[in-house]
Amino acid sequence: MINSTPQVVTIAGSDSGGGAGIQADLKTFQARQAFGMSIIIALTAQNTYGVQSSLPIPSDFIDSQFHSLAEDFSIKASKTGMLADTEHVLTVVENFKKVDFGPLIVDPVMVAKGGHQLLEYDAVQTIKEQLLPLATVVTPNLPEAEMLLGKSITTDHDMIEAAKSLQALGTRNIIIKGGHSQNTEASDFVLLENGESFWMSAPRIKTASTHGTGDTFSACIAAELAKGTQLKKAIITGKEFIQAAISQEIFVGHGHGPTNHWA
Ligand code: PLP
Repeated sequence: MINSTPQVVTIAGSDSGGGAGIQADLKTFQARQAFGMSIIIALTAQNTYGVQSSLPIPSDFIDSQFHSLAEDFSIKASKTGMLADTEHVLTVVENFKKVDFGPLIVDPVMVAKGGHQLLEYDAVQTIKEQLLPLATVVTPNLPEAEMLLGKSITTDHDMIEAAKSLQALGTRNIIIKGGHSQNTEASDFVLLENGESFWMSAPRIKTASTHGTGDTFSACIAAELAKGTQLKKAIITGKEFIQAAISQEIFVGHGHGPTNHWA
């Protein structure tokens, strides 16, 4: 049957080291058996030691990538990752108003684990005001949720309140990822559009191979949505997938290695 293959797109930055960004997303789409496409916002020169430099792609070329995909494919889900700066966030917002790429997962990527800034600070407000209202799901980690809301989040209660605040701002479904907390378990709080909420907990795994975890998690959810999986199930599958990816360590490079996409 024509167009029966699940098709999914990532709008993000390239990681030359293959562990995060566009590369992690495409590997995850492949592992989840969805046909993956990419709209590249920026290039990074990167390895397991960190990001050495980055180069944003001109906005009119981002328009061209959106146009090429919209003209041909039946995209059933999408995700955003590294968006670089305000100009690029606005370019993505304007394009999303013109195309239908299905449910949108916004992973509000801000700073890489090594400390390199992947989004200019003044773009956070634009993400909050213009991109989040278009999102089906937003997946901030604790530092990202703190930046979006301008307050510190330390307790479980804070995570619940943060999810409610993001929903009040117009985001439909929220996952606050607890991976950066000091707790023995990595617990994420999920608040759905219908008011249902739940925690997803998994044992914290001692490993240095966590590069690209956030990208992989949101990419898995996007792939599942493209396949027609119901949202709650897609989110739980995302958690299971990332837990398996972190548990079965691979050894690549000499710094903080990537997660395992074929776990
Ligand atoms: N580089 C790019 C291009 C990314 O999109 C991301 C995603 O968040 C990262 C790096 C971050 O990687 P890390 O998981 O090491 O923070």
